[in-house]
Amino acid sequence: MSEQHGQEDSKGLGKFGTRLIHFGAEIDKATGASSVPLYQASTFHHFSLDNPPEYDYTRSGNPTRQALEDYIAKLEGGTRGFAFSSGMAAISSAFMLLSSGDHVICTEDVYGGTYRLLTSILNRMGIETTFVDMTDIHQVRAALQPNSKAVFIETPSNPTLKITDIAELVSWAKQHELLTILDNTFMTPYHQRPIEHGVDIVLHSATKFLGGHSDLLAGLAVTAAESLGNRMKQIQNGMGNVLGVQDSWLLIRGMKTLQARMEMSEKGARRLAEWLSGQPGIEQVYYPGLPNHPGRDIHEKQSLGYGAVVSFDTGSGERAKKLLSKIQIPLVAVSLGAVESILSYPAMMSHASMPKEVRLQRGITDGLVRYSVGLEDIEDIIQDLEQALGD
Ligand SMILES: *Cc1c(COP(=O)(O)O)cnc(C)c1O
Repeated sequence: MSEQHGQEDSKGLGKFGTRLIHFGAEIDKATGASSVPLYQASTFHHFSLDNPPEYDYTRSGNPTRQALEDYIAKLEGGTRGFAFSSGMAAISSAFMLLSSGDHVICTEDVYGGTYRLLTSILNRMGIETTFVDMTDIHQVRAALQPNSKAVFIETPSNPTLKITDIAELVSWAKQHELLTILDNTFMTPYHQRPIEHGVDIVLHSATKFLGGHSDLLAGLAVTAAESLGNRMKQIQNGMGNVLGVQDSWLLIRGMKTLQARMEMSEKGARRLAEWLSGQPGIEQVYYPGLPNHPGRDIHEKQSLGYGAVVSFDTGSGERAKKLLSKIQIPLVAVSLGAVESILSYPAMMSHASMPKEVRLQRGITDGLVRYSVGLEDIEDIIQDLEQALGD
């Protein structure tokens, strides 16, 4: 692993776990209250016209949302954070940095919503995309065009957890003055901090691990450079797709336990991946922590852990469907990253609209399922899988 979770923050704010709790706004300066106050207000009184208030109108800024935005910026090691109404709102806002005539190089394993945004909306705005296998830098290089402006990365990717070498890609992208954008939803800043590897913008569906309780839809963005932060601020205010005040508060609440949840879920996922690897009839297990994972060395160079998502191939659609009908503990659903385990079936859920040949080519077979390990006892999770996989 590239460094330890326990490494001190360069600004002297303590180790990651301490920063998660003591992030700066954890005590209300005015009253000493033990949580960030909910400023449930759309507008702010001008006590003096000569001296306008710090906050003016909630779309442009709100103290509760600001506390969240500063919090994620601190955790990712960036200069500025932004909270949006969903992960897709954060992702689409980042793409608003581009203009008509620009070209994007994007990982072919990108989240389905991002794929739809690029191929059915941004294409109409004159933004063109080439999808490549980002585990292969040669494919990335070959996709370069004179109008290329940005590279969009997801590592580990979904659902087969392929690994992209962040530093290698960033150093190439910088030579060509391309903006680098990374969707860090699967890892969270607890396990991976892309800005430390030179990435310009980090994005999150905070609906997943950061929120952590399947009760909230939210997106976050963090910019590395101050100038990029100013441009994102203009886009966020101009698009108006900000996160509401109550949801900002709820997300802060969820994020405080990020380390405790990630640590336990990751431990469970490691155990689950090992167990699955020894099961007859399981054709393939995808988890970056397994010794036979092709991207393991690269992942270890750039990350602090392997995450809580394990995908595996049960061998056939029939077997997968039987498993889904017999399983007891996890929620059978799309989404991931919650206190409860979530089992999804990509072929019929997240990747149902993908042409079958393309799906199979990417390893998303009819037998593939994705397990997001929650906080249940891992031995119960394994026992439940054992009964559901049995005859
Ligand atoms: C869920 C998800 C998104 C989209 O986020 P929403 O909050 O659902 O809009 C984007 N990227 C990844 C990797 C995701 O898992």
